[in-house]
Amino acid sequence: MKLCRFDADRLGLIRDGLVHDITDVLGRLGAYGYPLPSHDLLYAGLEDLRPHIEAAAVDAPGKPLAEVSLLSPVANPGKLVAAPVNYVKHLEEAREDAGIHFQRQIEQIQSVGLFLKATSSLIGASRSIRLRFPDRRNDHELELAAVIGRAAERVSAKDALDYVAGYCIGLDITVRGPEERSMRKSVDTYSVLGPWVVTADELGDPSNLDMHLNVNGETRQKANTRDLVLSLPELIEYASRFYTLHPGDVIFTGTPEGVGPIVPGDRIDAHIDRIGDMTVRVAAT
Ligand code: MN
Repeated sequence: MKLCRFDADRLGLIRDGLVHDITDVLGRLGAYGYPLPSHDLLYAGLEDLRPHIEAAAVDAPGKPLAEVSLLSPVANPGKLVAAPVNYVKHLEEAREDAGIHFQRQIEQIQSVGLFLKATSSLIGASRSIRLRFPDRRNDHELELAAVIGRAAERVSAKDALDYVAGYCIGLDITVRGPEERSMRKSVDTYSVLGPWVVTADELGDPSNLDMHLNVNGETRQKANTRDLVLSLPELIEYASRFYTLHPGDVIFTGTPEGVGPIVPGDRIDAHIDRIGDMTVRVAAT
């Protein structure tokens, strides 16, 4: 299944380029009071909802994708977990770029571990990335993103993909400078997820996906997930050794080489095989 959130918090099933509004199935998730669960309700309930989603889509009229406004496919992630330099060529590029002052930021993922991005930074494809510090360099990072489907605590890499609900294109936007990664990558709008989620059963094996990113039509990043230093199952094993991954938590798997600056007015076109294409605009604050 391809699922999207669109317009005013509608839930859609995408088939043949049409978005079928199946928001009514969310009524099956039940009513919650304070404190709310620490997971995303849709992803926690997705397997139970699946037959109802498919049944509802049969009668729901379709709207062309081009006519909807796409929100983040995860509304309430508890965590945005992200992998720092997780492709060898990007590690080399980052070391060259960092100069002597920032070398301490560029270490192998096996020694520095993962970082978290603020959930308040998350947007969908139809909102613009708003550059908060235009006098500093802001970079695009194209990444395969996985959405967790069930609680994962100390799971092994061999079982890890059983905990994934689906996949999205992720953009981990970064402002350069001396602050901690988690701060520089948590600016409002600096995490883009979309354009929709492709469920794990439909995508299949995430370990051999071509991806590319263009800025204003020029190719900047072109890679394949087979070149990840730590694969997605290894990232899930690593992360879940430290903290429980909950349904709706998102894992940004790291960016390949070719990161580069973006400025207001730019158009980013991102592609990952078996997920699709996502266009995002860059604007001033
Ligand atoms: Mn990144």
